Amino acid sequence: MQRFYITTPIYYVTDAPHVGTAYCTVNADAMARWHRLRGDETLFLTGTDEHGQKVADTAAKNNLSPQEWTDRTSARFVEAWKLLNISNDDFIRTTEERHTKSVQSFLSTIYDNGFIYKGTYVGPYCVDCEDYYTAENLLDGNCPVHGRPVIEMEEENWFFRLSAFQDRLLAHFESHPDFTTPETKRNEALSFIRSGLRDISITRTSISWGVPVPWDDRHVFYVWYDALINYLTAIGYGTEKDEMAQWWPHSHHLIGKEIIRFHSVWWPAMCMAAGIEPPHHVQVHGWLLVGGQKLSKSMGNDGPVRLGEIAPATLVDEFGVDAVRYYLLRNTALGSDGEFSIESVTARYNTDLANMLGNLVARVCAVVNTKCASVGPAPSPDSELLQFAHVTIDEVSSAWENFEPHIALEKTWTLIGAANAHLENFAPWKMEPGEAIDRVMGDALEAIRIISVLITPAMPDTADEIRRRIGLGAVTAQGDWNTLRTATYPGGLAVQKGEPLFPRIRSAA
Ligand SMILES: [Zn+2]
Repeated sequence: MQRFYITTPIYYVTDAPHVGTAYCTVNADAMARWHRLRGDETLFLTGTDEHGQKVADTAAKNNLSPQEWTDRTSARFVEAWKLLNISNDDFIRTTEERHTKSVQSFLSTIYDNGFIYKGTYVGPYCVDCEDYYTAENLLDGNCPVHGRPVIEMEEENWFFRLSAFQDRLLAHFESHPDFTTPETKRNEALSFIRSGLRDISITRTSISWGVPVPWDDRHVFYVWYDALINYLTAIGYGTEKDEMAQWWPHSHHLIGKEIIRFHSVWWPAMCMAAGIEPPHHVQVHGWLLVGGQKLSKSMGNDGPVRLGEIAPATLVDEFGVDAVRYYLLRNTALGSDGEFSIESVTARYNTDLANMLGNLVARVCAVVNTKCASVGPAPSPDSELLQFAHVTIDEVSSAWENFEPHIALEKTWTLIGAANAHLENFAPWKMEPGEAIDRVMGDALEAIRIISVLITPAMPDTADEIRRRIGLGAVTAQGDWNTLRTATYPGGLAVQKGEPLFPRIRSAA
């Protein structure tokens, strides 16, 4: 039995869900669905990060208590992920009791192990980042992320002895070459470690909206060091229902490139200090960038758009859930930056979904209706199309395995192209009913059966709808994957036409 534990970062509740957070969440979801399909025991965790001064300030600005504010914003994430058909097994909120317990237990262990000490910290601090910078990290004296002035902050804090872990971290990267992927991001983390690690301050006295430090109740843990521990809380760290042994060796953190330092340096060091293994794998994704283009008129906005202003619901209204999921998974290689635009969503929708996938299913169902009395014929044993399909299964499988959804989908679409070419080639719509046409259509139906399974992690609803039209039941976890090569489309099933799966969209311009 294989296990797979995947996490997204927990999203900060000063923000509403947008395309950027949807990008990460949909990728994690497809990965989780892929592993469930294979029969792996899978745990998929997402949630919200709810502590810190920024949250308290935002709540105050909205005349709400921090708890009221976080309840409200956290619910918006739950709602957005439901809309995008996200199949998370757990949704963690850092204000939950179970999290407080895990944080206190984890950091007390580090304290008992002698890696936390009291000191005074002075340094440039960005209120928006809630983070200290070193003078050389500032850009013209401003925060390198926000471009706004920093303040000079001095605090008596509890410090984590990060500097003690430099050699162990380097050794860990050495012995676990895939700890952080892709390679470029691994190198980034490595060069940060090699540049020399300073101890970090992990508590605050100036904030009350946080998890209290168990050995010094004037302090709360600084939001980052509370947040990272969510990955352990969900598997019962420090509680009676401890499932660390079951899940932690199979942990994969999917994160954006802006938080590599936290996940590939701070976090593994904290794990070492607490006497547990670092997470198994950190998969870094790039950013979706918007070139300042406009949203379509129908989306009620004609000014330049920033990514953070595009709500997932807006896209889903325009394109449908599965098309949005497909685009987010297909258009950008995980690990690289990608360009996001409504134009490119529209182009992918029309080309890949309407013209290729939708058209394939529509043509096959239509021909079976008119030429085969609406009864799907069985495939022939060794057609070229099916040999190609079997090669595709292997390629798609290893792409999902390697955190390359864009390649998995690209390969799947090569098979869709081959199935369309098969139809063009034989032009069954010109053939007379009989054995020859049955063979052509049987092979096409078998290709569609395989395609329906291969697209399941990305487009679960579409997969089931396609199967319904060709007389098959919904894709079942494990069953359909395990018999993908050995079973074939059975033949004799009722095939029905339906509305276009992806009606063409006219370009927004
Ligand atoms: Zn900043």
